[in-house]
Amino acid sequence: MTMPKAEEPLAAIFARLIAQTGPISLMHYMAEANARYYASRDPLGSGGDFITAPEISQMFGELIGLWLADIWTRAGRQAPAHYVELGPGRGTLARDALRAARRYGLDPQVHLVEGSPALRALQHDAVPGATWHHDLSSVPQRGPVLLVANEFLDALPVRQLVRIEPGWRECLVDWRDDAFVPIAGPKPMDAAVPESYRHEPVGTVIETSPAMATVVYEVAARIAEQGGAALFVDYGHDAPRTGSTLQAVRAHRKVDPMTAPGEADLTCHVDFAAMAAAAQARGARWLGTVTQGAWLRALGIEARAASLAAASPAHAGKIAGQMARLVGEDQMGTLFKVMGLAAPDWPDGAGFPASAR
Ligand code: SAH
Repeated sequence: MTMPKAEEPLAAIFARLIAQTGPISLMHYMAEANARYYASRDPLGSGGDFITAPEISQMFGELIGLWLADIWTRAGRQAPAHYVELGPGRGTLARDALRAARRYGLDPQVHLVEGSPALRALQHDAVPGATWHHDLSSVPQRGPVLLVANEFLDALPVRQLVRIEPGWRECLVDWRDDAFVPIAGPKPMDAAVPESYRHEPVGTVIETSPAMATVVYEVAARIAEQGGAALFVDYGHDAPRTGSTLQAVRAHRKVDPMTAPGEADLTCHVDFAAMAAAAQARGARWLGTVTQGAWLRALGIEARAASLAAASPAHAGKIAGQMARLVGEDQMGTLFKVMGLAAPDWPDGAGFPASAR
């Protein structure tokens, strides 16, 4: 029997491509690296590379399910409702959210948008009855869309622009002396830089993500046309900022993003101000952007933790620790943000006060 040939490392493919055609954009590097990274593995959990909120505690998914059921109920319980999740990982969030939503009368069709064959297999077990999609285009066009994306946008590729002496350039990746090195490209990119950044000092980096904006734009269009609401949860900032946020994580540690592409998770912070603008430009209502800690508290995570602890006193300490991880200021509570969107004629969402807009 012949063994299947091991896949050629992405680093070797990139090195050859660069030798033949010149440096590649950082955006191309990140897109290919993450496609390779996710296709073949389950990166979540203690034995993997990183852990996410739904894997920390069932409370996270439950409160999301409750939020969806609440806004759907107040919008008039339209059917058929569609639960749509982008990048569902192990399917844990969907499982917890749907269990909670059903308790409040929301039993939607389930659509999971997932590119990774390895993760689809895990989602199959966690969410029986779901339908899988490569992108949003095949999700049904009738009935409200209740969409969730946790740590999805941050995995999409960003374009970085760097200010050098003569002006702005795109950040490219070159292959020199057996290593990937970031360089400034040759073409002037000043026209792509927003007016407010034109006069930043030499060395300034800014990030834009056409891929993230495209996803939010498409979601906004669906919601505006079909009704519905969406929650995007990710780490990021709600005011524009400069500087590279690209990072690579492997086995729960930060590593150099230029080493071993395809073997570590590459992420960038989400520019939530830009995402809110993209959503509104396509007709969705921006409900607001708040910190994960504030949002989970407003949804009642403390009461939920107390009731779980009362039901299982032996685990009270563990449950308190999980809650602290999700809401703690020095943990996920502040760096992570929750952005809510809804159809123009849908009501406000729980946990998004007027001050969050
Ligand atoms: N939401 C999950 C997993 C986050 S990891 C959780 O919170 O645990 C990122 C997820 O997005 C993975 O499921 C990954 O396979 C998926 N993903 C990343 N890039 C994608 C793309 N371009 N298209 C579809 N899915 C993608």
